[in-house]
Amino acid sequence: MKFYADLHVHSRYSIATGKNATLEWYYYWARVKGISIIATGDFTHPQWFGEINEKLKEDGRGFLVFKEEPAFEGEAETWLQGTREIGVRFCLSSEISSIYSEGGKTYRIHSLIYAPTIEVAERIRRKLEDVGNLSSDGRPILKLSPVEILRIVRETSEDAYLIPAHVWTPWFSLFGARSGYDSFEVAFRGYEDEIFALETGLSSDPAMNRLLSSLDRFTLVSNSDAHSPSKIGREANIFDSDVSYYEMFDAMKKHNNSSKMKGSAGTFIGTIEIFPEMGKYHFDGHRSCNVSLSPEEAERAGGRCPVCGRSLTMGVLHRVKELADRDTPLSREGTAGFVRRLPLVTLISLVEGRGENTKGVRIKYESFISFFGNEFDILNEVDLRDIERNFGEVYAKLIGKMRKEELKVVPGYDGIYGKIRNM
Ligand SMILES: [Zn+2]
Ligand SMILES: [Zn+2]
Repeated sequence: MKFYADLHVHSRYSIATGKNATLEWYYYWARVKGISIIATGDFTHPQWFGEINEKLKEDGRGFLVFKEEPAFEGEAETWLQGTREIGVRFCLSSEISSIYSEGGKTYRIHSLIYAPTIEVAERIRRKLEDVGNLSSDGRPILKLSPVEILRIVRETSEDAYLIPAHVWTPWFSLFGARSGYDSFEVAFRGYEDEIFALETGLSSDPAMNRLLSSLDRFTLVSNSDAHSPSKIGREANIFDSDVSYYEMFDAMKKHNNSSKMKGSAGTFIGTIEIFPEMGKYHFDGHRSCNVSLSPEEAERAGGRCPVCGRSLTMGVLHRVKELADRDTPLSREGTAGFVRRLPLVTLISLVEGRGENTKGVRIKYESFISFFGNEFDILNEVDLRDIERNFGEVYAKLIGKMRKEELKVVPGYDGIYGKIRNM
């Protein structure tokens, strides 16, 4: 069965998250978006883990479902009735922020961890509790290297996994310009084979990552890193497999022949990617001077802001090019692909000429969802003629343009999001 999975979100116990980052609202928005597998996020946090335990139960296939279907009221309930039943399940997940020193150098990196049962998650949690404080933040900061976390995860269960998070983010990632590492091998020496997937993050896409031959052996996954339920699915993974934790991870491992698999894996079809130019750190630039430069332009400027002379914030594209050993991305038969999409709410806001958080946009969004069943169906599957017939030519054209990847984006830089240039 083909399904979508978003494997990186945060609970309301993480900093900078909304009050509505609850299991119920994640479930709700998973139905609205059309995401069958949604991460729990933050299982290391004692209170959030308590809620998971209290409200969810194991489905016998490595995922969790509600003991009792959550109830919503009023408008929310009516709206949920209009979504297609896709059997939403939770995947136990957490993110650890490592900040540690080694050989006089400070490293910062985020790691995603996954567990197939509540018991395994609890055992990992207890081991990490011995190391640092898990209750101050849903994404705890620990003085552990990623290898030490990996060891804890893998020793607890052979079905528990670690995936390096958003590997290009400047400050907190494997390849980030300021995080301390330059190569995967430095970070995971001795344990390279235990890692089979990397999360590309919102500012990079598989095409950029495939400029590095050293990444060929990894499956490239994408997630939303949502801090609020309505943001899930900005990026997501597409699988064709049985809806089981074991099959899903086996599908990710299949790309990487060095990893052991159990039985028949399904297929990792690929990812949904936001246009990487939309990310906050795509180009180089200096925000306070409104200066945005391509990697080539930045190099010609000597890495300095042409207005004020201070050093530019290097974007992800430049960092990728710096480490890349290819000019064009490798495309290989049989490797997972990806499609570029924008959230439906962004498209509606473009057409209506109003902000994404306005009432008009929300009403239009609701009518799209209740008409077609969920957002991913609209972005990926629904016949454009149906969209034209029911919502007008402008919408059909815009969605068609997006599906053909003909949208042009003004790239984001130094903390400023990118923008769509044409409609
Ligand atoms: Zn992170
Ligand atoms: Zn400047």
